[in-house]
Amino acid sequence: MDVKYHYLEKYFGYTSFLPHQEAIVDAVLAGRDVLAVMATGGGKSLCYQLPALVFGGLTVVVSPLIALMKDQVDGLRANGIPAATINSSLGRGEQKIIERVILEGRIRVLYVSPERAVQPFFRSLIAKADVRLIAIDEAHCISMWGHNFRPEYRRLRVLKERFPAVPIIALTATAIPAVQDDIAVQLALSNPTRFVGSFNRKNLTYRVVPKARYFPRLVAYLTEHPNDAGIIYCFSQKATEDLAEKLQKKGFPALPYHAGLPDAVRTEHQEAFSRGDAAIICATVAFGMGIDKPDVRFVIHTDLPKDIESYYQETGRAGRDGEPGDCILFYSRGDYGAIRYLIEKESTDATQKDIAYRKAGAMLDYCETPGCRRKFLLAYFGEAYPDERCGACDRCETPVKVFDGTEAASAVIACIRETGERFGASYVADVLAGSTSARVRENGHGRLAAHGFGYTRDQWLLFIQEMVGKGFIASTGGRYPVLVSNGRSREVLAGALVVPLTEPRPEGVVASEPADD
Ligand code: ADP
Ligand code: ZN
Repeated sequence: MDVKYHYLEKYFGYTSFLPHQEAIVDAVLAGRDVLAVMATGGGKSLCYQLPALVFGGLTVVVSPLIALMKDQVDGLRANGIPAATINSSLGRGEQKIIERVILEGRIRVLYVSPERAVQPFFRSLIAKADVRLIAIDEAHCISMWGHNFRPEYRRLRVLKERFPAVPIIALTATAIPAVQDDIAVQLALSNPTRFVGSFNRKNLTYRVVPKARYFPRLVAYLTEHPNDAGIIYCFSQKATEDLAEKLQKKGFPALPYHAGLPDAVRTEHQEAFSRGDAAIICATVAFGMGIDKPDVRFVIHTDLPKDIESYYQETGRAGRDGEPGDCILFYSRGDYGAIRYLIEKESTDATQKDIAYRKAGAMLDYCETPGCRRKFLLAYFGEAYPDERCGACDRCETPVKVFDGTEAASAVIACIRETGERFGASYVADVLAGSTSARVRENGHGRLAAHGFGYTRDQWLLFIQEMVGKGFIASTGGRYPVLVSNGRSREVLAGALVVPLTEPRPEGVVASEPADD
């Protein structure tokens, strides 16, 4: 019998591979560099742990979180695989012992932080230790285009330079195509074989719901799902506590979770949730790393996530057991202000900032897309969805109607031109809706209002969004995106193009609060 099947059963207790695993293992065993993109839960660890056993010698795994390293090492040891970690939490004595055991060839899989991996001392240590394979986990951290850029990952290319003959496998759960390319370049992978698994989570449904006065609707949902466990993500620490308290008052078993709570309280709440004593956890994004509760039935966002990668990862915690899961996002365009604040505060580098704004823009596009949410998500990750509609998102459940929107589109284009192609969507929508705001008056744009259509500002916003998406107008992107007309705009004004637009739905207005740009 092929040795890999033998080890699969002997050390891991499985009789077959999950999708892509076998092909990945084969490529690694053939000595190739590999880039593996697989959804969370797809079974990435096995893709380097099994080759580590077949190769013998030492496999070095670079991993960003000490807590995750410990879990992995414990898991491997429980399966009879000699594993260890060298990290900053070890004392000098302990570290010396592990170094000796490594040199004696008694460790098969070694987990280290990226900082450690690039230290000259560490590199000479593993050079003496017969290193056969290097695995880079969470490889998207190497790319500014990833959602979790860690500058120290950039230095990992020294591994390829120092060990050119040792195959490298880079693994990640979320990598848009630009990130995949970046990973290969930054790690200096040599002609890597790529494996990209599907991102489609068939058992999850996706919904975007207007945020204005959302609390009663949240309560209604929870009342309809009394026995379900779920996570409600909020933007701020305070919001998680306020919401948990409000829900408790309504009789729901909800607890808050955020990084500002004392360690003991946090652990207690997390365990109560895992055990099922508290069905609902109101959390910041600090909650989730390493959470392995399989029966999470819903993930609700009361505030806009900063990008689609985060949203996909957070909603991905629903339905791990394969049973249905609901992903609900309460959306208001007004939340963009909080994201902008975050970006300004967190990004130091101009490129990083620009990327963060583009990603936030894509998040808005997701919320405002007239089409299938699933198709949109998958397209973002570079995956084509075969059908026009998935049947399991709000857009597919109540499909939108399309009408001849040429007249409205012409008004939008005229407004963009008459205001000098200097303003963003919110402002243009204000003018179109006949706003009498101070800014509109001061700019002398009050008289331009396209009265007579009867559309609200939010409806104009949706039209604008759709027109940008369909290329009838353009948006400059960047921090303060400005709308501009283009060649197709001119054709519309000349009456040479018909513009199909999505019919506004009376209750389906997704942007119900004033934006602040
Ligand atoms: P990832 O790192 O991609 O999120 P893991 O490596 O943690 O995924 O694996 C996810 C789950 O799948 C784990 O519970 C693991 O034990 C299980 N698993 C991995 N490979 C197999 C397999 N070949 N057959 C069955 N279960 C598997
Ligand atoms: Zn759909």
